[in-house]
Amino acid sequence: MENYIVKILEIEDVTHNVKCFRLEKPAGYTFTPGHATDVSINKPGWENEKRPFTFTALNDKPYLELTIKRYADHDGVTNHLHGLNKGDQLIVRDVWGAIEYKGPGYFIAGGAGITPFIAILRQLHKDDKLEGCKLIFANKTAKDIIYQAELTAMLGKSFINILSEENDDRYFHGHIDENFLKKEISDFNTHFYVCGPDKMIAAINEILVSNGANPETVVFEK
Ligand SMILES: Cc1cc2nc3c(=O)[nH]c(=O)nc-3n(C[C@H](O)[C@H](O)[C@H](O)COP(=O)(O)OP(=O)(O)OC[C@H]3O[C@@H](n4cnc5c(N)ncnc54)[C@H](O)[C@@H]3O)c2cc1C
Repeated sequence: MENYIVKILEIEDVTHNVKCFRLEKPAGYTFTPGHATDVSINKPGWENEKRPFTFTALNDKPYLELTIKRYADHDGVTNHLHGLNKGDQLIVRDVWGAIEYKGPGYFIAGGAGITPFIAILRQLHKDDKLEGCKLIFANKTAKDIIYQAELTAMLGKSFINILSEENDDRYFHGHIDENFLKKEISDFNTHFYVCGPDKMIAAINEILVSNGANPETVVFEK
């Protein structure tokens, strides 16, 4: 496995606990939208603490981009990543991933599980191929919605938000359950892309398949 040491070029706040990191791109480095790499911080003691993160910018950009949620409740990699500055170095490795685009359908994400869909949807938008794609995005509160303005601009009415811990007329309220999915999905005979916490993936997968989705068309991050 190749190790690439790359400098952080830019850091932007995306939400209260998510930051976007733009990184130097090694020559010839490419990926499939939806794929990830193992990242570590190039500082003593952290070089071998590898965590997977997904590329969110497209291959045509001169930089790599990662969109990273911080878990501030313990001394892990994401907590340290959020404390880094422009000019600090990360180590990125070969590209891998379980999610990639297979055709129009429903994208169902929970929290930071949106990241593989960001790259896929940006690519489809660039290629003018978003027709037939709908995004259902579950978060706790409105302030947790990652890239809300961009996703709204790209998808319009095909961008559905559901919040579990906030009652706001502009969004659905609750968890993604069978009733909700039956209302939002007009055709189970299509592609489904699911990414989020393990429990959410398992529950949604079961609902989709029991409503007629072909298990082979349900793609989820393991
Ligand atoms: C293929 C793939 C792609 C991914 N892409 C992205 C991405 O693009 N962006 C993104 O934000 N995330 C992404 N993730 C998730 C990301 O890898 C994890 O959030 C990250 O590894 C967490 O690292 P950590 O060292 O901060 O936490 P870890 O120590 O690895 O802990 C992870 C989880 O355990 C909990 N936990 C562990 N130890 C403690 C403790 N002592 N006290 C309290 N809680 C604890 C944390 O709250 C957290 O939920 C991806 C995951 C996969 C599998």
